[in-house]
Amino acid sequence: MDNKPKLIIRMGSHAEKDYILKLGKKFDGIIIGANVVEATAGATASLLGQKLKLPYYIDPMTYVFGCDLEGIRSDQKRKKKIIRDYKRSYKSLASELGKLFSNALETKKRIYPENIHSSMVKTICDDVVNYQLNRIRQEFLKDEEYKNYADSIPNVAGVFSPYFYIPSNSEIDWKVFIALSSTTAKIINEIPVYSVLCADSELLTDGAFINKAINEIPLTGVNGVWLWFSKFDELYISEEYLKGFKDLVEGLSQKGLEVYNRHGGYFSLILNKIGMTGISHGIGYGEKKDVQQIEGPPNPPIVHYYLPDIHKRFGVLDIERCFDEMKIISPKDFYGHMCDCVICKGVIKDNIEEFKKFGEDRYATPESKRKSQTPAAAQRCRFHFLINRIREKEFISSNDLKTIIEQINDTQEKWGDHVIIARNSTHLTKWQNALK
Ligand SMILES: [Zn+2]
Repeated sequence: MDNKPKLIIRMGSHAEKDYILKLGKKFDGIIIGANVVEATAGATASLLGQKLKLPYYIDPMTYVFGCDLEGIRSDQKRKKKIIRDYKRSYKSLASELGKLFSNALETKKRIYPENIHSSMVKTICDDVVNYQLNRIRQEFLKDEEYKNYADSIPNVAGVFSPYFYIPSNSEIDWKVFIALSSTTAKIINEIPVYSVLCADSELLTDGAFINKAINEIPLTGVNGVWLWFSKFDELYISEEYLKGFKDLVEGLSQKGLEVYNRHGGYFSLILNKIGMTGISHGIGYGEKKDVQQIEGPPNPPIVHYYLPDIHKRFGVLDIERCFDEMKIISPKDFYGHMCDCVICKGVIKDNIEEFKKFGEDRYATPESKRKSQTPAAAQRCRFHFLINRIREKEFISSNDLKTIIEQINDTQEKWGDHVIIARNSTHLTKWQNALK
């Protein structure tokens, strides 16, 4: 079996396709939320079906309909009036996913696990599986010019069972999760079936919950599980949670399951050494995600510079402050101490001052009150991050756990005297302790 960690990129909107097309071959797959598929169905179909030759997955996003439905409403202009309604993409998704989901929107009542009776489970699973298997093909069939290609479209690389958020260790949530997983596993044989364990991160400190997951998920017959612990942030969460997460990954993989982290970073990549199959995240964000916050913030935050040594993003000014002490005077020094990726080499060619281009800002419009990062600067930061993430993956593939931990230790020594960086690197100590 191939033990290299898989890196699966989550496409958050169609606008991100350029990153994916450019670096596509370096990724092991791509995952798209069904709401994004619905928002840009034609373009997504042509990307997945033709342009991008990569394994792909469609996340059915069923959990959204079990959360506060206000999260998928927005103010919309209709006949010169502003009304508050469900977003078009989610409305369309609900009707594609079947009655349970469209009914939730019609009655304005979110789905509760106690309303999912055992007699409904088979239909729900059939509908959600069919959506993933056929949605892209359907889009090709609609188009006179492309319909002949419909049969040659590659199939999804795996199918997800319907899933809902598990807020606590309650019997009913768990029963529904297990029923949806095992029923989906029975429907599909040809391609892998995955459940999504989407739960509160507090459950990572609940030994009984972890044991239950390790013992019961493998019995459902799924091939693997995608973990999503709401608000689980590798950079800030305490050791106890990291250890719980590691135990869960190890236990599930020892039972023969593929294990993915739906929103993970370098720590999750390292867990490949104890059984993690792969991770996914967005093109410059999404290494953590809160279930309740369905959409990202309205204004995209600044994309900071990913400091490869620390596996974390820092402001450009904070990094520049270290140049003197580290004796970084020439571009060559920068490549040696910081990063020598193709983006950094392209940005910092003649002078170390050029590093500022990663943080370049301007007033977006004459009316703007505050400066914001230029799209070009954000793009540089994202490409530099993705290239480094690919490097991290390769580093982990070719080294053992001991060497990986030693490297983290060396890094801490290297940066120990730089106050701002060192003070913001405490995750490295927690990671080492959790990995022991
Ligand atoms: Zn770089």
